[in-house]
Amino acid sequence: TITVGVLALQGGVIEHINLLRQAAASSFSQDNDQITFAFNEVRTTEQLQKCDALIIPGGESTTMAIVARRLGLFDALREFVKVQHKPVWGTCAGLVMLAEEASATKQGGQELVGGLDVKVLRNRYGTQIQSFVADLSLKFLGEDEKPFRGVFIRAPVVEEIISPSSGVEDSHLKKKGKSADGAVEIMGVYKNAAKVGEEQGDEEDIVAVRQGNVFGTSFHPELTGDVRIHAWWLRQVVDSLRHKDLVVRNDRA
Ligand code: GLN
Repeated sequence: TITVGVLALQGGVIEHINLLRQAAASSFSQDNDQITFAFNEVRTTEQLQKCDALIIPGGESTTMAIVARRLGLFDALREFVKVQHKPVWGTCAGLVMLAEEASATKQGGQELVGGLDVKVLRNRYGTQIQSFVADLSLKFLGEDEKPFRGVFIRAPVVEEIISPSSGVEDSHLKKKGKSADGAVEIMGVYKNAAKVGEEQGDEEDIVAVRQGNVFGTSFHPELTGDVRIHAWWLRQVVDSLRHKDLVVRNDRA
């Protein structure tokens, strides 16, 4: 059984669990390997340590960080992402949490887990009432696939790909571990994005990225009925665990 956790401090938890269940049922039920999944809400270090992979949901990243700090979860989260390099996916506020740097339109610094060598701009499209839906063409779902409906709610975007963190422990920021080896891959863009307050635009915003086992999306696939990204990600999780298994076995041989 592969245990997938959803960080349940705040935000859209149950929506992810529901879609993970549907994705597992539709994409793995005919699998010859008989892969089974457990989908768990995660609120403690012990629960996190039992997980093979984790989703950090959308919500509000400052609040999520405050709660995580209060529950003493930050070290365990960094260990999970940046030392053990287990598969993690952050949606919206979750993407903010996984960024090495975040800038905000209003407030400044906040504690981050990190793992992705990117700087995100929070609330890129403005406030709640400026939420919108846009069709995204995501190549990783397959060339001929129909567009994915991206739900953007006070969404962040990736502003900048930054140079890799040094990996040295920084006592001030309590940063530990390092981002995944390898480059940040741009997995999805939103074309023709407009500046806040403008009707039309021609900016191209980065709204999905991956670096090693760390994946992030600005938008909320869990708020659609579309299981494709959840199914794709579960497949990545399975492949990553298989790969690790092979590496460990080779080491022993
Ligand atoms: N604006 C929120 C943040 O910066 C994210 C919003 C969301 O997750 N829907 O944390």
